[in-house]
Amino acid sequence: MKERIIKLGNRILKDTLETQGMRNKLINEIQRKGINDEAVLKAMREIPRHFFLPAGLEHFAYLDKPFDIGEGQTISQPYTVAFQTELLDVKPDMKVLEIGTGSGYQAAVLAQMGAQVFTIERILNLHLNAKDILSALGYNNIQCFLGDGYEGLPQYAPYDRIIITAAVDQIPDSLKDQLKIGGIIVAPVSYTLGTQVMTRLLKEDENNFKEEKHGFFTFVPMLPGIKKN
Ligand code: SAH
Repeated sequence: MKERIIKLGNRILKDTLETQGMRNKLINEIQRKGINDEAVLKAMREIPRHFFLPAGLEHFAYLDKPFDIGEGQTISQPYTVAFQTELLDVKPDMKVLEIGTGSGYQAAVLAQMGAQVFTIERILNLHLNAKDILSALGYNNIQCFLGDGYEGLPQYAPYDRIIITAAVDQIPDSLKDQLKIGGIIVAPVSYTLGTQVMTRLLKEDENNFKEEKHGFFTFVPMLPGIKKN
């Protein structure tokens, strides 16, 4: 892969042969843990995850671990991103709505797979940081919004896919309504205190959803309203 250098505010970010090598190892590890979808693995091999971590912490990017990105929020563990994206079954040109932009990394994975991505974040600082890095990386198929994911983004609905990257007690009806028939929602739904079950809903018709459950994960909670400071 070509080496890449981008400028982000006063930071110079480099994706070198060394970081690419570390990334390949991480993706091989994720593959060994059971992720098979070549499109997901390919996208994750291409995206410099270290660009999405706060300054000074870049070297943690190629461990299979979640990481603190400020504001009490986290960039999801790479395996979790891969698992959730695999379940989402994204194809090029699909319209995908993401709730919880966070670092912007998950949005980049979806965009790298060719989707048209709409992503919502409720915390202003995170929204602005994610917007900066995603535009510095040149993604023109991602639109970032500051807003409350509980409302979704009705002005661009319906979506082929919806991914929620924060823990919910149940999948909001507003989001189910914004999904196309035949569309899929993947979300971590709270099960017992502190853990969630990765839940996949297939919209069979206007009122019927087929539900599947796919193992336990831990996410930060989805909270109502916008936070500007
Ligand atoms: N997808 C992210 C991980 C996100 S962590 C990544 O790839 O880095 C969950 C994010 O959801 C946090 O940034 C949190 O602020 C955000 N969030 C929580 N409740 C929300 C809501 N109601 N609307 C939009 N974003 C929300």
